Amino acid sequence: MRKPIMAGNWKMNKTVEEAILLVSELGMLADEVTDTEVVVCPPFIALDAVIEAGAGSKISFGAQNMYWEEEGAFTGEVSPAMLQDMGCSYVIIGHSERREYFGETDESVSKKLRAALRFDLIPIVCVGEKLEDREKGTTEEVIRKQVETGLSGLDKEQAAGLVVAYEPVWAIGTGKTASDEDAQKVIQFIRQVLTGMYGKDAADRVRILYGGSVKPENISGLMQQPDIDGALVGGASLDAKVFASIVNFQK
Ligand code: PEP
Repeated sequence: MRKPIMAGNWKMNKTVEEAILLVSELGMLADEVTDTEVVVCPPFIALDAVIEAGAGSKISFGAQNMYWEEEGAFTGEVSPAMLQDMGCSYVIIGHSERREYFGETDESVSKKLRAALRFDLIPIVCVGEKLEDREKGTTEEVIRKQVETGLSGLDKEQAAGLVVAYEPVWAIGTGKTASDEDAQKVIQFIRQVLTGMYGKDAADRVRILYGGSVKPENISGLMQQPDIDGALVGGASLDAKVFASIVNFQK
């Protein structure tokens, strides 16, 4: 059984004070949840305060990015060792905004992923096609390359512990969600690619999330799909009540 995950990506939002308020409110609302893992990924500068304010709640914590080196002359970067030391359990890797605005590639995703695993961080690896890929009918080709290059070089146990987020780029922050069936179809395809790389046992254990304009109104349909194990939520994770109603989805 794969335990569902609802992960909130706060992106570049919230001051430290606002972040503390948000996690405190969410901590109370998520306290009853037993069968879903709740993760929040605040901006780096709020991580420490959020982890402290959320301690004792059911929430786990993640970063939105990291560099692959442990320490050194890499101005402006944050290392996996620092995230581990701070109390992070998760790290988002290869979000489409990082690929689009900060030049991340499948190769950098692969380096970051292996570095995260060395520091016991659970990577939430993002993959997803652009609108032009979908229109050209190359969604599967694009996703296969992202998965085969970005997630290469792991052993089966490491692969099984990954979280993958399928986020069609055209659905992020646009209000357009992939239909339940389309999301299921691509996520099933990702599992098939993972089966080819790491075998069925490992691939069946990987948790694969959907991301892209998830809201309380569309989460139930998505969660009814057999291969969808949760959601990576952007905009709707910035309000504790709204995110809590996604976390408390009814199948
Ligand atoms: C995201 O940033 O990962 C995301 C899915 O954003 P939104 O929910 O706002 O579309």
